[in-house]
Amino acid sequence: MHLIPDITIVGGGLAGSEAAWQAAERGLFVHLYEMRPAVQTGAHQTASLAELICSNSLGSNLPDRASGLLKNELRLLGSLLLECAEQAAIPAGSALAVDREGFAQLVTQKITDHPNIRVIREEVTRIPESIAIIASGPLTSPAFSKAILELTGEDHLYFYDAIAPIVTLDSVNMETAFRASRYDKSEGDGGDYINCPFTKDEYLAFQRALCEAERIQLREFEQELEQGVRAGADKYFEGCLPVEIIARRGEMSLAFGPMRPVGLIDPRTGRRPYAVVQLRQDNLAGDLYNLVGFQTNLTFPEQRRVLRMIPGLEKAGFVRYGQMHRNTFIASPKMLLPTLQFRERSDLFFAGQLTGVEGYIGNIATGLLAGWNAARWMQGKEPLVLPLTTMLGALCHYITSADMKDFQPMKANFGILPPLEAQKRLNKRDRYARYAQRSRTDLEGFLRNLP
Ligand SMILES: Cc1cc2nc3c(=O)[nH]c(=O)nc-3n(C[C@H](O)[C@H](O)[C@H](O)COP(=O)(O)OP(=O)(O)OC[C@H]3O[C@@H](n4cnc5c(N)ncnc54)[C@H](O)[C@@H]3O)c2cc1C
Repeated sequence: MHLIPDITIVGGGLAGSEAAWQAAERGLFVHLYEMRPAVQTGAHQTASLAELICSNSLGSNLPDRASGLLKNELRLLGSLLLECAEQAAIPAGSALAVDREGFAQLVTQKITDHPNIRVIREEVTRIPESIAIIASGPLTSPAFSKAILELTGEDHLYFYDAIAPIVTLDSVNMETAFRASRYDKSEGDGGDYINCPFTKDEYLAFQRALCEAERIQLREFEQELEQGVRAGADKYFEGCLPVEIIARRGEMSLAFGPMRPVGLIDPRTGRRPYAVVQLRQDNLAGDLYNLVGFQTNLTFPEQRRVLRMIPGLEKAGFVRYGQMHRNTFIASPKMLLPTLQFRERSDLFFAGQLTGVEGYIGNIATGLLAGWNAARWMQGKEPLVLPLTTMLGALCHYITSADMKDFQPMKANFGILPPLEAQKRLNKRDRYARYAQRSRTDLEGFLRNLP
């Protein structure tokens, strides 16, 4: 094993693991630093690389959805983590959900077995002086966070992200709950999700209880969070709001949000429930289920009390409670190029959530590009800017050119792609299919003509 690496990667999460693989596959000797298990983040629970901290879903697999389109691009680009996710997949309708531990173990095995990668279990506290990728994630350790702050000379931007609870299957009352996927997309027997149906009265009582329940205080940020004020960035990420915050926005906001009953019929009543809480399988054994979209920051005793008001979860056994964490990212529009290089140091790359790309698949994708581009830089080739018509190209473009005033983490979505010609005449479904086709054609062409 080479003692002097060609490249240092900080963080063995989703982006760092993918980046390490891509660089190593292109012949670079990689030192991948991961601080766990010696130093913990507060949200990760294992020592594995690529641990998923909240949902076990990597989003839709349908090619005409933004996340499905990005997955197709990652397949074309040879992503290791997507391959591992497909191997660790468990039933989840049209989404790609994984056995959380199985997925992380597969990635860990692949990375540690790679002859060009050495995994070093140490916290990094200084910015590496030679070629490196920073992928230490939204929960970057405080010491390293300080080093990034000194490098960027800017306040970090941040918001809050929450985790959803997990319950055991044998504690779910299947006399009340029923299995079904929305609009019957599942090929499984009876559907991949467990649905806990509410009557109107049950829903209203639950919504009130959520509003009144005691939350864990977030000390000095609590007030900002309550008011949703701006101080560099909004403190909520709209895609990941705690349910108690959604509940406070209005009586029906949950019923139109994470508790929407569309596409579901309760077999016991033959009718659509007033609202539902969906449970998604969390592990291969199928004995753990997470509450879909139920990120929360209630105190643990209040989670036990209030979530047991959900029909079917009266005796729920919790293996993990929800929690909230500060989620840090840098001012990418000022700091980075669309190649993911730091503007002031071309041998320094950033990847993952730190760049302001949101979502597991987006984080894997930026890791892939950073690893690839770092290898190109090292080999004297020009780092790549992907076509804007690809979802990954559009994400990199967005985070590096957005207006700083409104800069917020961005998930894969069709709104960031350049419009199609004659798009007005197409319905939404056809438009999305055309976006998918255009991305494929352009990416294949790009790969054929690589400089
Ligand atoms: C609370 C929370 C919940 C989230 N839930 C979801 C979700 O449900 N779905 C979704 O799509 N996205 C979610 N995200 C957003 C994001 O997609 C994930 O956080 C994702 O794991 C980010 O990938 P990453 O590679 O950037 O960081 P990570 O996967 O967090 O990897 C970073 C790694 O760096 C290590 N590290 C940190 N500092 C150092 C250091 N100084 N030295 C060495 N190692 C270090 C960490 O231990 C970690 O392993 C969530 C984020 C948060 C904070």
